[in-house]
Amino acid sequence: DKLVIAIDGPSGSGKSSVSKAVARKLGAAYLDTGAMYRAITYSVLADGTDLANADAVAQAVRDAKLSISVDPDAELVEIGGVDVTAAIREPRISEQVSTVATNLDARAELVRRQQEIIAANARIVAEGRDITTVVAPDADARILLTASEEARLRRRGLQLGGTQNDAQLATQVLARDAKDSTVVNFTQAADGVMTVDSSELDFEQTIDAVLDA
Ligand code: C5P
Repeated sequence: DKLVIAIDGPSGSGKSSVSKAVARKLGAAYLDTGAMYRAITYSVLADGTDLANADAVAQAVRDAKLSISVDPDAELVEIGGVDVTAAIREPRISEQVSTVATNLDARAELVRRQQEIIAANARIVAEGRDITTVVAPDADARILLTASEEARLRRRGLQLGGTQNDAQLATQVLARDAKDSTVVNFTQAADGVMTVDSSELDFEQTIDAVLDA
């Protein structure tokens, strides 16, 4: 039977690790849509395409040979045959990815590809910013994973291994969310979307709350 689980949330909400764990428990595929925006950003920068040129960026997305693993235990992102799995996590990508994300033509093309991937998998957990509302509004379960600003900054800080001071972290995380929020709503649950607030939950409790939902 077809099963689609849609999970959205801001950065640092724990979306990726929770979604992956839920996919494993359900024997489902896992789609990290943020990795697709990151891969496009990487390739636009590598090609020397002007990120400020919206038409050029949109064309780059349409031309992109993008491939992403949906195995929750094997992360792999390739663009134009190049493995960019690690490179797309670099701070320079996080800093510029919102430029691609706020390009509406780029979004339309990535949404279309995400819907193809979801259609091609019998069971899948897809996570991002617009999965519950745009990519898979008919999903069997639609969840908005939230956490207090304090909890999100703390988690992101741990993830980055204490390499950033508090002010840097706050700027990075909050500025990106603010920019992304101008085109997608992931700060409030849309109609029919269940909110799971992980601020006071540990990892296992968060997974259980999502499975309950
Ligand atoms: O989830 P992650 O932090 O890796 O996402 C990176 C960026 O990709 C987000 O900051 C946002 O700009 C963009 N994104 C998006 N829509 C999605 C997933 C990610 O706009 N569904």
